[in-house]
Amino acid sequence: MARYIGSVCRLCRREGMKLFLKGDRCFTEKCAIEKRNYAPGQHGKGGRVKSKLQGYGLQLREKQKTKRLYGMLEGQFALTFDRATQEKGVSGEVLLQKLERRLDNVVYRLGFGSSRAQARQLVRHGHVRVNEKKLNIPSFQVKPGDVVSLGSRATKNALVAASVEAVKGRGVPKWLDLDAAAMRGKVLSLPARDDVNFPIQEQLIVELYSK
Ligand code: SF4
Repeated sequence: MARYIGSVCRLCRREGMKLFLKGDRCFTEKCAIEKRNYAPGQHGKGGRVKSKLQGYGLQLREKQKTKRLYGMLEGQFALTFDRATQEKGVSGEVLLQKLERRLDNVVYRLGFGSSRAQARQLVRHGHVRVNEKKLNIPSFQVKPGDVVSLGSRATKNALVAASVEAVKGRGVPKWLDLDAAAMRGKVLSLPARDDVNFPIQEQLIVELYSK
């Protein structure tokens, strides 16, 4: 499956905010946003200021930011939006719900991976179980009642253990329940809009795709 292989810190600098794409490093002073909070490239420093964007430019940045936050490429993201519009409810909110329900995101939210990229790798490499069955599809949509756990090799991994330890301090969203000792989590309900704890104006994305 295609994936972005460039510098992820450049993506944060382009959006002008931390997207937390690199795990623990994002919480340290080594974070590129802490050191160089301006757009990458030759014209980055004197470039267009995001707060002055409007219309299409603003909508595009919001879509790019959200897509990059969840580590998706354009085709996957557009497809998710298409599916969201076919479901009942407010399209923007359904889109966010679908992004949150992705298996790689749930593995990240439960703290099994320190970033969504690491969580996706755990899924792709067959370390993740849903209801005791191995599942290696990062875009799989979890539903209430599903139990997400790790295979025996992953539960002994020091990086995974450190990541779970870190998430115990930060907490997991209320739609998930983490049993850190057993390295398993249960989906309690569908994620609500206020469970997305990142500033996203989903209406701008809807406006962009509706053009
Ligand atoms: Fe973004 Fe993390 Fe890189 Fe900072 S360290 S710029 S938050 S990916």
